[in-house]
Order: sequence, then structure tokens, then C-alpha cells
Amino acid sequence: MVPTAPIFRFAPSPNGRLHLGHAYSALLNADFARQFEGRLLLRIEDIDLGRCRPEFETAIYDDLAWLGLRWEEPVRRQSDHFDFYRAAAGRLKDKKLLYPCFCSRKAVADTVARREAETGEAWPRDPDGALLYPGTCCNLDPEEVRQRLSIGEPHALRIHMTAALALMPESLSYRRFDREGRIEPVKVDPHRWGDAVVVRKEVPTSYHLSVVADDALQRITHVVRGQDLEAATDLHVLLQTLLGLPTPLYHHHGLILDPIGDKLSKSRQSEALADVRARGVTAAEVRRSLGF
Ligand code: GLU
Repeated sequence: MVPTAPIFRFAPSPNGRLHLGHAYSALLNADFARQFEGRLLLRIEDIDLGRCRPEFETAIYDDLAWLGLRWEEPVRRQSDHFDFYRAAAGRLKDKKLLYPCFCSRKAVADTVARREAETGEAWPRDPDGALLYPGTCCNLDPEEVRQRLSIGEPHALRIHMTAALALMPESLSYRRFDREGRIEPVKVDPHRWGDAVVVRKEVPTSYHLSVVADDALQRITHVVRGQDLEAATDLHVLLQTLLGLPTPLYHHHGLILDPIGDKLSKSRQSEALADVRARGVTAAEVRRSLGF
């Protein structure tokens, strides 16, 4: 059998301009692909219809081309494939692992505040810092659920974590790889995400579900992404196992910090790559400054 080439992907969200952190991640993917004689795909993760904009997508192509990157066409754009993610969610529903949740963010916060007042203890949070879901809608009367769904009440779908973990082997893990070609197992602990949202209220998917479904569909063998997504991999491995999908190898790279040591981010208004370019900095200088 001819061994297949490794497949890497860079998967930005067009909800703002790319900054140096994205440039680093994209260049690192390309570098790994070169080193491992693999292929590089680009995926546009634009399921957040409220925040993603076509002009940001165009800017992604411009910025990456300016950096000297090449990727295979066609580019997969997630918002074109909601039916595909709906089907993946359907498979989890068939296994009775999802339940509708009607809670607003405020309702969750209020419930947690009440419980904290009762117990005098701080409520646990997930790795992203969000309050763990207190399970309010997990135990609703089925008749009430039917009623609320029939009137079209907006709802998300959450994973029933305890039920999902009950289907899992004793311990779950993925394999991490590095530039020296070392591969080592990493145990995961999806439980720390609680009953996470797998299908959001506004769209028939979530970041976690679409990333897992697409990585499998595109036969991604090596995922290279920032350390800020390392904890999410625990949930991804769980979803992959439940859906019968392969788990790629992962490399979570360190994040590029701004001059005062904060993580670069679109929400912090970090300097966009386009602004760096407008200052007259060349692509070669950017690549060099990032260690390539
Ligand atoms: N779309 C995600 C982001 O822009 C990256 C997802 C991933 O690499 O898994 O942060």
C-alpha cells in the first residue's frame, strides 16, 4: 500500500483581521507540511454568522498569499455545509447523547449564583473560564420539552457528559507530535467541560462539532494550532470517538505575545497583519521575526 501524505490545515475564522499570531500558526503549518512532505489545506471557519464577514475572508486570502503561503483549492467554507454538521449532530442525537437546553447565559449565571449562595462554594468553570452548566435542562419533564420545542423556543443542544463518558473506554487519549518527529500519548479529561454546547442556538453546529467533522472529512492527519485550543482537544477526542471518526495527531504551539506579554487577539485589537504590511514591513521580515 502506498503511504498517504500527511494532511495539515490552517483554519482561521473570518471575524476580524489576521494578526501575527495567525501568521505564526499558518507558517508553522506550512513548515510542518514541508518537513513531513505533506499537504496544506485552508479552511474558513465561519459558522458564527453574526461576526464573520466576507471582507475578512477576502483579507485572509490576501494576508496568507502576502506571507508567501500556498494552499489547495477549493477552500472549504463551513457556512456552506450546515447540513453536514446537522447530520453529525443527528448521529449523537440517535445515541441519546444530546438534550435541548433553553437556558440563556443569564439563566445559567442566576442558577449558579443561587447554588453558590446555598453552598458557600465557588461553582466550577470549564477550561475556557465559563461556568460549568448546572444541568437545569437535563432533567426537564419530556412533555415540557416537547411543548417548548413545538412552539419553536430557541434552544441549544448539550452533550450529556456523564452518559457520553459511560460509553468510553477507561482512558481516552490522543497523540502529540513535535518538530523532532517525537510522538507521545496525552490523556484527555473531557469531563472538565461538563455538558458542553454541541449545537448552538443560532446555527445547527458549534466550533467543536464542525471542527471534528471537518477534520475527519478532509482526512486531516496532523492538527497544528495554538495552545489556547489545547484543552478543547479533550472534547474533540470525545466527539471523534462517539462519532467513530479518527483522531489526528496534534501539536499545540505557544502563543505569540504582544510587547506587554498579553496574548494577541482580535478582541484586544492587536495590530493586524495588514497594518504591519502598511508600515512597510516585508513578508520576509515577518517570517524571520517569527522564527521561520
Ligand atoms: N477557527 C479557530 C480559530 O480561528 C481555529 C480552529 C482550529 O484550529 O481548530 O481560532
